[in-house]
Amino acid sequence: MGGALQTLFPAMGTVNSILIYDPARKNAAEEIRFFVRSLDRKLSVFRPDSEISRFNALDGGEWMTVGEDSFAIFRESIRCSRLTGGAFDVTAGPLSALWREAIRSRRLPEETAVRKAGQLVNYRDLGLKEEQRQVCLQKKEQSVDFGGIAKGYAADRAVRILREAGVKNALINFGGTVGVLGEPKMVGIQDPFRPTGEPFGVLTLQDSFAVTSGSYERGFARGGVRWHHIIDPRTGMPSDSGLRSVTLVGTRAAELDALSTAVFILGAEAALPLLQSRALEAVFITETGQVLVTPGLQSDFRLICQKGRSAL
Ligand code: ADP
Ligand code: MG
Repeated sequence: MGGALQTLFPAMGTVNSILIYDPARKNAAEEIRFFVRSLDRKLSVFRPDSEISRFNALDGGEWMTVGEDSFAIFRESIRCSRLTGGAFDVTAGPLSALWREAIRSRRLPEETAVRKAGQLVNYRDLGLKEEQRQVCLQKKEQSVDFGGIAKGYAADRAVRILREAGVKNALINFGGTVGVLGEPKMVGIQDPFRPTGEPFGVLTLQDSFAVTSGSYERGFARGGVRWHHIIDPRTGMPSDSGLRSVTLVGTRAAELDALSTAVFILGAEAALPLLQSRALEAVFITETGQVLVTPGLQSDFRLICQKGRSAL
């Protein structure tokens, strides 16, 4: 890592890291920081004045013109919602807001509230007008949530900025969305059963991304159940597919981000046809600690042996 320059900055609810190995090109990191922070300001549902919050507050059937990045994310989100049959559903806003509050207060939501929110979730109600860059939801109470795709979109753009700046070698990490530019680099995958920062395995990546979704990041345990932030739109409840985390590897981070959320919800077996159709590789970790690696990734993945972890 000699000579590499690291830039750290908070945005999108996480700490983001950019590591540039050609230090002469360090201005690219500043450009990325500026881009990601302004994207975060536009997309955050936590800022009442953000473009997305204003969109979510509109009446049903009201169209709004949005900026180019927002529109690109809308478009990609709808595509991924279709691709996953609504496992990733960009209109999951009412459900994710309900469960965000439940996780914050550690109080489970009422069944009727879950049912009501669930009935509002339907990506088919999201309209797009390409020429005008306009978007619209059918019902007032509906809302979009880009929490499952924004980091991926930001990572795609960051790598593009690096390339355009002439950077040959870099590593970015936007809260579990990791991108490698140039020579092969090893990246750790968080062990979902251990404290943050402890990897259970190492992936070698080259000009690609690895994106992880897991139930361990946010949530709480009660009654032997983990209540977490990845919601199955079919039930309105935190997904319960037997996975603890999934890491997808591919070349387009926005799609990987949305699909990692969807694959986590669908479960390993049900997700395999989807992964094959998109030529994506995956590492699954089940609730019982079993590790499953797709064939195309086996030579690039190494399990870290740890005390207390059985051989797999
Ligand atoms: P993280 O943000 O923890 O890296 P994910 O990429 O899996 O993990 O995204 C989870 C976020 O996506 C949630 O916090 C929520 O905002 C949103 N979300 C939850 N369930 C869904 C869903 N079924 N479809 C689309 N977005 C979802
Ligand atoms: Mg995601």
